Amino acid sequence: MTDTPVIGVLALQGDVREHLIALASADALARPVRRPEELAEVDGLVIPGGESTTMSKLAVLFGMMEPLRERVAAGLPVYGTCAGMILLADKILDPRAGQETVGGIDMIVRRNAFGRQNESFEAAVDVDGVPGGPVEGVFIRAPWVESVGARAEVLAVHGGHIVAVRQGNVMATSFHPELTGDHRVHAFFTDMVRAVG
Ligand code: GLN
Repeated sequence: MTDTPVIGVLALQGDVREHLIALASADALARPVRRPEELAEVDGLVIPGGESTTMSKLAVLFGMMEPLRERVAAGLPVYGTCAGMILLADKILDPRAGQETVGGIDMIVRRNAFGRQNESFEAAVDVDGVPGGPVEGVFIRAPWVESVGARAEVLAVHGGHIVAVRQGNVMATSFHPELTGDHRVHAFFTDMVRAVG
């Protein structure tokens, strides 16, 4: 890998475009990923925000669920925001019928934990490892992490609830840093991808 890693954004559903822009400004070569052949070519992957049940069903439908699980198990760096966090949880507290996860982080997430769409909010969040002070977190029907297992590391807490987690090469945030124009979290992830490469 060169200094410019190729980072895919899972483009089945959700705010794909915003992540592509954020990654490009964090000096990654960003591209949408829809098919297993495209997944095979990336050095890292972002799973965007959106609707986790829909995304999970589309991942099964597009034949992506197993390839995603295999690459995560093989050490692919992955970053999930909001619905993406839910997809990366080993367990969902309140899954909808047919909702599966890719898994990768030993944690239990609670969907829509911070309330409904009209209870969305922004808050300054200190994320371990991200320099330059707190980031502005956008929380939209956001999940929180109910509990983490021994292998997962808590990176941020808001209002007493875990909102950012990392386990090995996999990280997840409840909030959407891609919507703020501040791309430090994407730069942090891009550095993680470089370190693995
Ligand atoms: N609440 C949504 C879900 O369950 C996630 C919302 C989001 O990604 N902004 O998938």
